[in-house]
Amino acid sequence: MKRSIIWFKTDLRLHDNETLVEAIAHSDEVIPIYCMDENWNKQVGKFQKTGNFRKQFIIESLIDLDNNLREKGSGLWILKGNPSIEIPKFAALNEVHKVYTKKEIASEEKQMLVDVEQALWKHKCVLETFSTSTLYHAVDLPFAISQIPDMFTQFRKRTEHDSTVRPIVATPDKIPSPVIPLLKVQHLDLPELPIKKIDERAALQFKGGETEALKRLNYYLFESKLLLKYKETRNGLIGGDYSSKLSPWLATGSISPRFIYHEIKRFETENQANESTYWLIFELLWRDFFRFMFKKHGAKFFKLHGFNQRETTYTAHDETVIHAWIDGKTGDDFVDANMRELKLTGFMSNRGRQNVASYFIDQLKQDWRIGARYFEQQLIDYDVSSNWGNWAYQAGVGNDPRGKRVFDTKKQAKDYDGKMEYRRLWLEE
Ligand SMILES: Cc1cc2nc3c(=O)[nH]c(=O)nc-3n(C[C@H](O)[C@H](O)[C@H](O)COP(=O)(O)OP(=O)(O)OC[C@H]3O[C@@H](n4cnc5c(N)ncnc54)[C@H](O)[C@@H]3O)c2cc1C
Repeated sequence: MKRSIIWFKTDLRLHDNETLVEAIAHSDEVIPIYCMDENWNKQVGKFQKTGNFRKQFIIESLIDLDNNLREKGSGLWILKGNPSIEIPKFAALNEVHKVYTKKEIASEEKQMLVDVEQALWKHKCVLETFSTSTLYHAVDLPFAISQIPDMFTQFRKRTEHDSTVRPIVATPDKIPSPVIPLLKVQHLDLPELPIKKIDERAALQFKGGETEALKRLNYYLFESKLLLKYKETRNGLIGGDYSSKLSPWLATGSISPRFIYHEIKRFETENQANESTYWLIFELLWRDFFRFMFKKHGAKFFKLHGFNQRETTYTAHDETVIHAWIDGKTGDDFVDANMRELKLTGFMSNRGRQNVASYFIDQLKQDWRIGARYFEQQLIDYDVSSNWGNWAYQAGVGNDPRGKRVFDTKKQAKDYDGKMEYRRLWLEE
């Protein structure tokens, strides 16, 4: 009997999941697991690693994954604790020969894979990893990782020209598994839950899981055809429709970027292709770019001077100033409205993120990494490379070839919130 584990992390889906398909193809039985590790309750300085908005979203994603697995004859087994202890223990107990999981790009996650792999060896169990989170597969890129240009435009042009997006892998019909105990929400260790409905002014009432992710994609493309106007609306600030809002599901891996790509292509065939339909793919390429930059530069992304050692950053850690920013009380109404939205909902538009980050760095002159850490706690869609990559970019220590771009928040407010609707929405009690 060949029994294996599929260890789900930020790939909480059944569609286009090579790890799952490979595990099934090479095993008589698979046991799907998720390990709630110490990051769940970890504090880094004054911030939580995983804030409550994201915890709630992840819990919903796990419940949905469990339901979807059960429909295929399986289920999700939850482990709690350090994966490098719990997974090998579980593997030994269940006579597992192989653990299948997703490749990682950031330093802590990569180290965890090494630790798990070493601990598994002691039980004669092997770890195999698959790349499942990017649009372009790393091995299909026209450059070796170390040669990827640090400039997005160069990366994009050559990648679009020389590489293709692979087709998606099929969703399995059946998942042969031993009996897996029913998942009980009360065992999931979530303090102060359920969080009530998120503030009703929120851009969207995000709900975690593959089912909701696929619904959202279908809504944004085929039902509403909002995709056709994406390029014109994507700098919006209010409501669900100005952009795709797929980021939280992409961050948990409840939706595959390749699946999004192929659905956009189908939409283009069945409806129409225009600049907007292309632009959503263009933005997914930014996401890929930051992931590959993390693969290239590693933990240097977390350093004050970034991977390019620029000396232009500020270093202040002023508690009063930082708290005024977090609470939306800086006195700059555009920044304050955005920061309040983030605090009360776990989401903020891309336009907002650029402005509040620039303000934190260029006007408040604080260490940009504190802002990045607050985002890490707060964002439902937190994703290590997209967050730290964008913050480093904004701080002028990352991938912006022009150095630093300072946002004039007063002008931005006029350009993007000329009628003050957004500021009123969040600043008026
Ligand atoms: C300071 C700062 C921090 C950020 N932190 C995160 C983060 O932790 N997680 C995250 O997913 N995005 C982050 N972003 C990028 C971007 O703001 C969000 O992806 C976007 O606002 C999510 O909304 P959407 O899904 O409606 O985006 P859409 O406009 O519909 O774009 C579609 C998808 O493209 C990708 N994308 C779009 N813009 C970017 C970008 N600049 N960088 C990388 N990917 C992009 C996202 O996956 C997004 O879901 C950050 C941006 C800034 C300026």
